[in-house]
Amino acid sequence: MTIEQDPQQRIVYKASCEHSFFKKLSWKKTTRNSKVPYRRAKNKFDDGTNIMTCEEVKSHIAIVLNSYWWSSKMPYGVSLTKLNDGRGTNSAMVRFWPGLKFELTIPRWARQRLVILHELSHVMTAMVGGVDDHGPIFCANFLNLVERWLGEPAYIEMESLFDKHKIESRQGELI
Ligand SMILES: [Zn+2]
Repeated sequence: MTIEQDPQQRIVYKASCEHSFFKKLSWKKTTRNSKVPYRRAKNKFDDGTNIMTCEEVKSHIAIVLNSYWWSSKMPYGVSLTKLNDGRGTNSAMVRFWPGLKFELTIPRWARQRLVILHELSHVMTAMVGGVDDHGPIFCANFLNLVERWLGEPAYIEMESLFDKHKIESRQGELI
């Protein structure tokens, strides 16, 4: 996806990384051999919490998708059909299957609530009318998901980060 095709992608990532709910991987310095230092990711985020397991990611997604809140907004039921642990890639990614199913690839850094909600915003956006990448409809859905699942203060913070980065969101117009 090029900048022209998805102009808000970079700033949406940037705003999300600045949000206080975004956790970074924790690293330790170690040595591969006596001369070459390198960093290895610990099994925790920088706030000391554990990285979610794939099972925990699945159950977190199930809570959102099975909620009354989701079903009252989404005209069709949608289900997670496959979860990949993200080995070999750095990107979290949703891929749609026929029959309202989707596949999620979620590497370790992404196994946290804010990023899961980002990916579910792609699902929600696809369900309400197609591809918007990180455009205004996606951003409106993301803000709604953050408000419902992370709470009002997290929503207010994300909204002001969207303002700071001049991110366009079609909030209030749909869903
Ligand atoms: Zn995205």
